[in-house]
Amino acid sequence: MARMSTLYEIIYENVRVGELYEKLDRNWVRCFACGHCCKIPDGQPGVCKVRHNRGGTLYVPWGYVGGIQCDPIEKKPFFHAHPGALAYSFGMLGCDLHCGYCQNWVTSQTLRDPAAAAGPMRVTPAELVLDALRQRGRVIVSTYNEPLITSEWAMAVFKEARATGLVTGFVSNGNGTPQVLEYVRPWVDLYKVDLKSFDDRHYRQLGGRLQPILDSIRQLHEMGFWLEIVTLVIPGFNDSDDELTRLAEFLAGVSLDIPWHVTAFHKDYKMTDPENTSAETLIRAGEIGNKAGLRYVYAGNLPGLVGDLENTRCPNCKALLIERFGYLILGYHLTSNGCCPSCGSSIPGKWASAFQGQITANPFAPRTRPHSDLLVLNS
Ligand code: SF4
Repeated sequence: MARMSTLYEIIYENVRVGELYEKLDRNWVRCFACGHCCKIPDGQPGVCKVRHNRGGTLYVPWGYVGGIQCDPIEKKPFFHAHPGALAYSFGMLGCDLHCGYCQNWVTSQTLRDPAAAAGPMRVTPAELVLDALRQRGRVIVSTYNEPLITSEWAMAVFKEARATGLVTGFVSNGNGTPQVLEYVRPWVDLYKVDLKSFDDRHYRQLGGRLQPILDSIRQLHEMGFWLEIVTLVIPGFNDSDDELTRLAEFLAGVSLDIPWHVTAFHKDYKMTDPENTSAETLIRAGEIGNKAGLRYVYAGNLPGLVGDLENTRCPNCKALLIERFGYLILGYHLTSNGCCPSCGSSIPGKWASAFQGQITANPFAPRTRPHSDLLVLNS
């Protein structure tokens, strides 16, 4: 078993030449992998800390993962894509934002926060896909860090994955560019965007801007990705009626068929001041989504406390189509071609021809540990 040395060395040695950048004068480069579009001088990294300019060439992360886990696809959350499937989830390291409440900060804030010290595992795309199949994954998802900033690696994995019939997905903050979305389009089936706020000042606190994310959401929908949106509702940060209404109306303006998940915040990482989100607040957010005309609004992270907001109903006749408790599917009633059995309305999504049951015996925990052949620990 080989030893990888320091985190810095792992990130700066396990690289290859990037595909999402242009060369500029005086050995500068401009990266297109996320909405920051960093202009990077020789010898420096971009804002994400993991893509760096060496001698006028942009080097990007390659050949490792920062974490692997098998999750129910409902946890990503995707509610209109292969319900019950196991989503084999992997991530690398680093992020282009620095959200104070990040639940994956150990991998996302590597090299930015000294306390973030994930142990990477060296792996090839083929080994990763084999591990996904061994663990009975039907979907493979790039998540845990921001997948856009490691798009070259994710595409190498997804090309292998597609050859075996796996469905592919990104769980992303949506801070994209037209170039990166064009780059990933041929290989990504499902795309979840975490729309964190509808206030540019709030986005700047998190290290981003609102506009590139709104532009990306529009573009993702136009390009035909299967798109779902999640908003973590944080008391005092983004839970005002006004902000939630503007956000929901923006989504409704893109498409009434985009599922919108409003999920409950709990104290995490550096954000420990706001109270945890109550069920009443989520139900209020759900009502705002419905009032904006969105047909599929879901409330997450408080199983059993948010009434019908965990279920999918036919927007036409209100028949119960998928009944859930948290990530657990209690009832599935769509027809084999994804229609309401009661009135025949077509329900948007990526449905299998038949519900194959939920693969995990316990959908709240990974079924098995990652295959040990993949593990190469850092010191
Ligand atoms: S991925 Fe984003 S943050 Fe990282 S170097 Fe490229 S543009 Fe900058």
